[in-house]
Amino acid sequence: MSLRETLSYSTSRERFRQQAEEHGWQLAALEPPSSSSADGPADGPADGPADGPANSGETSGASIDVACRGPDDASRTLVVTAGLHGVEGYFGSSLLLDWLRAAEGLPTQATASPLRLLAVHCLNPFGYVHRRRTNAQNIDLNRNFMLRGERYTDAPRFDAELDALMHPTGPDAWRTFFRLRLAWMAARRGPKRVQQAIAGGQAGNPRGLFFGGLSPSPFVAWCEQHWPRIVLPPGVGPRDSNHQITHFDLHSGLGAFGSLKLLLQPGIDPAGVQWMRSRFGGAMVVPPPPADAGPKGTARPTGRARPTARAGDLPYQARGTWGRWLQNRFPHGCYRYACAEFGTYNALHVLAALRQENFAWHHYGAGSAEHERAADRLRDTFYPPSTRWRATVRAKFLSLATAAAHPAADDTPGK
Ligand SMILES: [Zn+2]
Repeated sequence: MSLRETLSYSTSRERFRQQAEEHGWQLAALEPPSSSSADGPADGPADGPADGPANSGETSGASIDVACRGPDDASRTLVVTAGLHGVEGYFGSSLLLDWLRAAEGLPTQATASPLRLLAVHCLNPFGYVHRRRTNAQNIDLNRNFMLRGERYTDAPRFDAELDALMHPTGPDAWRTFFRLRLAWMAARRGPKRVQQAIAGGQAGNPRGLFFGGLSPSPFVAWCEQHWPRIVLPPGVGPRDSNHQITHFDLHSGLGAFGSLKLLLQPGIDPAGVQWMRSRFGGAMVVPPPPADAGPKGTARPTGRARPTARAGDLPYQARGTWGRWLQNRFPHGCYRYACAEFGTYNALHVLAALRQENFAWHHYGAGSAEHERAADRLRDTFYPPSTRWRATVRAKFLSLATAAAHPAADDTPGK
């Protein structure tokens, strides 16, 4: 697609399907979780709070589209997913359109370790359509995946000052010196602590930002039902350690303009960390924090002359992430997940845009002029309308996906 284009969900989905067919990918369309669970979860406000506008949770005509190519007897699968955070679907699906074409030249069969490729167009169609980060229940899907024994209600809550700052109640309040007040709070409490408190995931305000839900969202059940069948070839089970899955989940909004980092999640096997580092370089790969470490946790790599990213380089650690859950579901180190994070604007800009959209959604509702304006701003925050950004990000993504697909000695099954 052209670098200048910003495609709506339906146009993007149509092109994804067309290009997949043109370039020899097999297509499947799955019903998204929101419409297959029309009643919604028991927690949180279903579709709009009682004192706010009645925002619809329906996304008619949406599907989760999966394109696949490569042999059924492959020993490796490379998965690329987009739009877990719906509004990031604009950027992620545009990269997938490029990949559908570019991957045609990859030697999937003619190697010692045959490869399957999987592209998932958009995991959260509701968020893409409405230009929201969350699902229809205001749940941040990348904060909603607790492991067995972990409780949703144990997630932190914003204190009163932070809650008032991030979630204004009146129409004039949302833009009143927000950046200044946030900068002041960061100066008093420390920038990393503030970013951790805001973005790590919270259970206290169901209408708030980074709300992780109070129970598993319908998307968790959807993943339990569909994900193993999507990512594994026919006849291979999740506990088969001979099939290696590498998964890049596309995200944007964190980091320097146009930069790419691979954020690894707890539960990845040490060989997986090593594989990522040797293939993509220590500067790009941010290792997972050690168990129970806060935002300051660091996992020190073995000696290297080049600059090497550390877990402590991240501004915050999120709770309930999808990647950690996936790695937990596919044990024996066969599932290697990386959040492929492309930077856009600085944290203040990104938070201001998220805050404005969240306020407009809950206060004015879907379709209002106020929400349209705020949602457009949010879309542009996560998919900058800059030809330079788009060209840089496209080149970085294609070189990442190509390098990951290329067979090497360390891809031997079972290693
Ligand atoms: Zn994201």
